Amino acid sequence: MNTPRLQVSNADLHCHSTVSDGLLAPAEVVRRAYANGVDLLALTDHDEVGGLDEARAVAVELGLRFVDGVEISVSWGDDTTLHIVALDIDPGHPALIDGLAQVRSGRDERAAQMGAELDKVGIHGAHQGALNFVGNPALVSRSHFARYIVKMGHAKDVKEVFDHWLAKGKPGYVAHSWATLKQALGWIHGAGGLAVLAHPGRYRLSNKETRRLLVEFRDLGGQGIEVLSGSHSDEDVSEFARYAREFGFLASRASDFHGPGESRIDLGKLPQLPQDLTPVWQRFR
Ligand code: AMP
Ligand code: MN
Ligand code: MN
Ligand code: MN
Repeated sequence: MNTPRLQVSNADLHCHSTVSDGLLAPAEVVRRAYANGVDLLALTDHDEVGGLDEARAVAVELGLRFVDGVEISVSWGDDTTLHIVALDIDPGHPALIDGLAQVRSGRDERAAQMGAELDKVGIHGAHQGALNFVGNPALVSRSHFARYIVKMGHAKDVKEVFDHWLAKGKPGYVAHSWATLKQALGWIHGAGGLAVLAHPGRYRLSNKETRRLLVEFRDLGGQGIEVLSGSHSDEDVSEFARYAREFGFLASRASDFHGPGESRIDLGKLPQLPQDLTPVWQRFR
C-alpha cells in the first residue's frame, strides 16, 4: 500500500531564534512564519534544542505543522566548518543532548580569543559587546560579534563585518574544532532524525571537494541537502539540484532566516523545489 503524500505547499525547514543567533524569540519566529503562509516549519537553532518547546506550543495553538530540528556545527577536512541540519529528531534523546552540550562548550573560550584578535585590529570591547547581544549565554556566536561591530559604526551591516573581520582568513576569525561529521550524523540518527547538509553552496569548495564531501556524507547515512537556501544563488540551486539527483538525496527548502532586516530571505519566501526532486518532508514520521 502506498503511504499518502504529505500535502505541503510552503515548507521552511531552517531558521533561528534568540536561543542561538536569531533576533526573534522562538514564539515570534513561529508567528511570523504562520503570517508568511508557512505550513510546515522546523526551528533549527545552532547546537541547541532549547527553543523547541516554546515554538511547538505556539505552532500547535496556530495549527501550524512543526518539526523539531537543530543545526549542528561540524569541522570537516583540514579547516572547513560545515552545518548539518537535523530534522524530525527526538529532542530529548540523551546522546544528542550530550553531543550538543559538548559542541557548545568551546564557544566561550573562542569568543574570548575573538575579542583579543579584534582588539589588535582596533575593534575594542567586542567580547563584552557581543555578550550584550546574546540571548543564550552558552551560544555566543560570530553573529553577535557582527551586531556589536555594526552598532559601533565600523561597518554598515553584518555582511560587511563578515567580509572584513569574521570570515575565514580575516583578522577576527578563530579556528575552532566542532563535532566530526560522523559524530553529528550518529547523534541525529540516534535521535530518529534526518540529516540534511545545510547551504552546500556556502562552503566554497572545489567540484572535487564537493564530491568528496557528498560521498562521505552519503556513506555516513546523510539523507538530504538544502537545494533551496537563503544563501543560494540561482546557479547554486541548479548545481545542488543536479547533485541531489545524482546522489539520490532528499531536497530541503530552507530560508535560514535569522531576523528581519538581517536576512535576505524571509520565512517561507522561497521558490518551489524542482518537481522531480523528493522533498525531505516526505520522509518525516
Ligand atoms: P559561528 O557559529 O559562531 O561560527 O557563527 C556562524 C554564523 O554566522 C552563521 O550561522 C551565520 O548566522 C553567520 N554568518 C556566517 N557567515 C556569514 C556571512 N558571510 N554573512 C552573514 N552572516 C554570516
Ligand atoms: Mn547563524
Ligand atoms: Mn548555517
Ligand atoms: Mn542556519
